[in-house]
Amino acid sequence: MDDVQNVVVMGKSGAGKQPRVDFLIRRFNLKQLSTGDIFRHYLGLFKEFAYAGDLAAFYDSAANDFIPDAAIMEQLGIIGRPGADDIVLGLKATYYVNQGLFVPDRITNALFESAFRAMDFRGAVIDGFPRTREQAEFLLNLMQREGVKLDAVLLVENEDELIINRTLGRRICKSCGELFHMEFRPPPHERQNECLKKCDIVQRSDDNLESLKKRLSEFRTKTRPAIDYLREQGTPFFPVPGNLPNYSKEAVEASVCEVMGLAPSGAASI
Ligand code: AMP
Repeated sequence: MDDVQNVVVMGKSGAGKQPRVDFLIRRFNLKQLSTGDIFRHYLGLFKEFAYAGDLAAFYDSAANDFIPDAAIMEQLGIIGRPGADDIVLGLKATYYVNQGLFVPDRITNALFESAFRAMDFRGAVIDGFPRTREQAEFLLNLMQREGVKLDAVLLVENEDELIINRTLGRRICKSCGELFHMEFRPPPHERQNECLKKCDIVQRSDDNLESLKKRLSEFRTKTRPAIDYLREQGTPFFPVPGNLPNYSKEAVEASVCEVMGLAPSGAASI
């Protein structure tokens, strides 16, 4: 397969998806489409709003949903303000993401579709989506409707224990997205390149033990059925180890090439 249109990378939060995504981007000249990044954009918009109250106040547990958007806007005092819809979306995303809960399918599917449409439904390494069976059905239907294909699903496998150790030490550059680890790859003190001069090293707001355990449990109950569904539908599926004995960029590339049946270098063919 040399004309690769779209690839999905799945795996538990913290399994090691990003280095595999980076390789697929380089190898097939694709662009990353990450639902986690989309939600973090909305988290940022809500953070700028600097709301200090308890978000649970906007959630109606009896209805198992948020109170109506107009009521949220009224309580925040943003009715009629430009960008009010995005602030509300940011509030909802913050509520779910920081607890380690999956954002509901209705919100996630709509945001995913709009970002995928902006890419004309082609050329994506789709990362972090689908995470539920409903999202998997939505994705395959959308691709069928738009006449594009899903060439492969790469499933990055890793043990919960290893993920917990890796994730709690994880740091990220807010400017360029580069990942560091306090023990294995500490962020540099002296900035070297253009981005690093402005580099802003932060810990993700959801990288704490409680939230991570919840994310791992969400994966078990909700993402496993999505994986089963994609397999049943005959999507080419490639499990790859997230943890390598001698970790390096080359070792990551070699392991992905091996499972996908790609030549280690040169022309792309699956
Ligand atoms: P990630 O960066 O992929 O680990 O995503 C961070 C968080 O964003 C997740 O823990 C979820 O709260 C939310 N999220 C990302 N992608 C999805 C998705 N496909 N479905 C539901 N929630 C998602």
